[in-house]
Amino acid sequence: MGNKGDTSMEPIATIIDLAIERRKRGPRFDGGMMQILEVSRDLICLCRAGAITAINGAGVRMLGGKSTEEMIGRRLAEFLIPEYGQVMDLFMSGMASEDRAIPTRIIGLDRKTRDVELQVFRAREIAADATVVTGRDTSREGKLAGSAHQSDTRFHLLVENSVNLVCHVVAGTIRYVNKAGLDLLGTAELEQVVGLRLEDIVHADYAALIDEIVREDAVVPMRLMHRDGTAFDALVRATPLPSSAMGQELMFEARDITSHNRAVSALRRANETLEMRVAARTRELAEQRLRAEEMTLVADASRRFSESLIDTIPSPVWFKDALGRIQTRNRAFRNLFGDGDPAPGLLPLEDAVTDAELLSGACAEASYEASILPRGGGRLDVLVLKSAFLDEESRPVGVIGVLTDITDRKAMERELRRLATTDSLTGVFNRRHFLAAAATEVERAHRYGSPLSVLMLDVDYFKRINDTHGHAIGDEALRRLAECMRQTLRDIDIVGRLGGEEFAVLLPETNRDGALITAERLRLLINQTQITLPDGQTLEMTVSIGVAVPKGAESSVETLLAQADRALYTAKMQGRNQVFAEGVDGN
Ligand code: GH3
Ligand code: MG
Ligand code: MG
Repeated sequence: MGNKGDTSMEPIATIIDLAIERRKRGPRFDGGMMQILEVSRDLICLCRAGAITAINGAGVRMLGGKSTEEMIGRRLAEFLIPEYGQVMDLFMSGMASEDRAIPTRIIGLDRKTRDVELQVFRAREIAADATVVTGRDTSREGKLAGSAHQSDTRFHLLVENSVNLVCHVVAGTIRYVNKAGLDLLGTAELEQVVGLRLEDIVHADYAALIDEIVREDAVVPMRLMHRDGTAFDALVRATPLPSSAMGQELMFEARDITSHNRAVSALRRANETLEMRVAARTRELAEQRLRAEEMTLVADASRRFSESLIDTIPSPVWFKDALGRIQTRNRAFRNLFGDGDPAPGLLPLEDAVTDAELLSGACAEASYEASILPRGGGRLDVLVLKSAFLDEESRPVGVIGVLTDITDRKAMERELRRLATTDSLTGVFNRRHFLAAAATEVERAHRYGSPLSVLMLDVDYFKRINDTHGHAIGDEALRRLAECMRQTLRDIDIVGRLGGEEFAVLLPETNRDGALITAERLRLLINQTQITLPDGQTLEMTVSIGVAVPKGAESSVETLLAQADRALYTAKMQGRNQVFAEGVDGN
């Protein structure tokens, strides 16, 4: 530094020497000289009567100014601090000492104080009041000199106690290494390191980088070598020392970052693993979500499909949960019962009973026929089919039901039954059904010990009616006779046509006397019935009736009928148009 300063001072000193020489020999200053003086680091200015008329750049800076222009016209004395009044006087009077520099202190326009040595030369060649003033900034020199020793010691202490490796390298050779450096390089001996080339402590892979880091003046990661030949990671910086030619003299610093690197790479590995796990989990979740979405779509589609499938079924279909709430109802069901639950009683009682059975697991399926009252009115015969809806553990959790409209079938059945059991001409039971129904009634009467009677009835001289008026009139007569029986008899009485113009009646809960009364009433009514003939004339008919009652517990329908037939025969024999009961006449 000092050398450098001295070097730069040289021209000034020379110029000043020159000036002094020229002064002695009567040198001449002119305006052009100021351009030459620009190279000086010292203040050089020309004053007239103490005011600046020309000043070099160094002078402007020393006086805290920014431009030459702002300095022109200012009195140099105004920069001197008051304590230097004597010097001021000197300037004021236009007098100046040429033989010695006057140490003084100035306050610049930038308000900064600087120690300056001023020297004043008279320049009578320019004008009588002209002076040339030179000034040298001595504040830096003073400070440096004062602290040089102290800072050197401090610097040494800092370096020696630094936790980092610090080397002093001259022309690539290590001249000094601190204690931390010895530790780092794995040796206790200074001699082991001092004298080594920088390349000796740098890993071969990085040797080529040495010149680079010197130029870069940056902290660079590198691999360095322990003295035992093992490598370690370090952050490295090479700082050229200011006094040397570039790269000749260096401060080489290194910080071990092996553990740091290990931690970083462990962290990075952990991060990578974590990232991988996070990525895998994210993927997994995305796939799950996708699958769930797909399943929802499939479920939606299948639900829609099922719903529309169920809706297209013409039979009412429903699903009731375990609490008896209808959860699903198809269109046919809604048409029948509306959107709400069917009003109580709309479905028959069995509905609740079978629901309970299905839900309790007592049965898996149930079916029954019933009549229901639909919303629109009327009556429907239905077949109700139900099955328990089971959960995945086969527990019943609801009831699926379907109604089949069997109204037509039931009507046909009823008609068939009627056709099978009744006589088409008269509407009373045919022989077969009469026998069956009567047998049931006889059986019942025996069981309960109830009374019972049987009538056997035959039209008198019916052949004659047919022969005289025709078969159609005969048929009409038989219809009117059946009509009379319906009028006279009770609903519980069983009436049958046994064949031709022969009828039988079973009277439940009727004893012999009751039977006789009924028979007599019937005989009379028939007798009074008049059948109008096509020619306007009327026809009358009579009947003979035989009455029978059970004689013992063993009496069957057949026995009773045979008995009644015998009584009928007697009635015929005794003159017809009368009622006869066995036992009346002691038979
Ligand atoms: P009675 O019983 O008083 O001794 O004399 P009857 O003339 O009724 O004698 P019978 O029982 O022998 O005659 C029955 C007649 O009834 C014979 C038959 O032609 C006639 N007949 C039987 N079934 C039908 C029928 O469905 N329609 C008509 N019109 N006549 C029938
Ligand atoms: Mg007859
Ligand atoms: Mg007959």
